[in-house]
Amino acid sequence: MKLFEFERHFPDEESCRNRFRDLRLKQGVVCPKCGCTHHYWKSDKGMFQCKECGHRQSLRYGTVMQGSKLPFRYWFIAMHLLTATKHTFSAAELQRQLGHNRYQPIWEMVHKIRSVMGQRDSEYMLTYSVELDEGFFTVGTPRKEEKMVQGSKERKATVLVMAESIEVEKPKPNMKKKKVGHLKMIVIPDTKKSTITEKAVDIIP
Ligand SMILES: [Zn+2]
Repeated sequence: MKLFEFERHFPDEESCRNRFRDLRLKQGVVCPKCGCTHHYWKSDKGMFQCKECGHRQSLRYGTVMQGSKLPFRYWFIAMHLLTATKHTFSAAELQRQLGHNRYQPIWEMVHKIRSVMGQRDSEYMLTYSVELDEGFFTVGTPRKEEKMVQGSKERKATVLVMAESIEVEKPKPNMKKKKVGHLKMIVIPDTKKSTITEKAVDIIP
């Protein structure tokens, strides 16, 4: 879906909410109390009500959005950006785009979406303990406008290297006790502590 189509389909909170309700109905709403699969939609409360026992559940109950107070439209936008584009969207970037004042809920949303999407590769979240390092990689001869790394004639990119450090089960006496799991490398603008923290926080759960 292109951005303009997205805008047309989901212009506001209500359209996103309705779409989400329809998706849940299509999937089948199950009562957590009695297992009944027939529900009324209480539009005034924004809840499903079990036809059998009367138990009510919120629209977000049992979904990726459960526990989140963010608008439905935030979730739709985030899912759109994370699925429709080939780019990696950091939580910080998304927070900026949405103009939301708090980072934490946006970060949680992005990570939940990523985990349900089961993304790997560039989206892969590193688990276990993670070891950070930085390195400089030669990426060609410098362009005029680019800053060069001190004392270097070549153009370098600063790369943050993050490696999963996994304990080896029952290591043999001459073996190392840890092994490297997934590796992730991203280009960073500088090696300031704040930059590294910001980038690392987006990847490490
Ligand atoms: Zn019920």
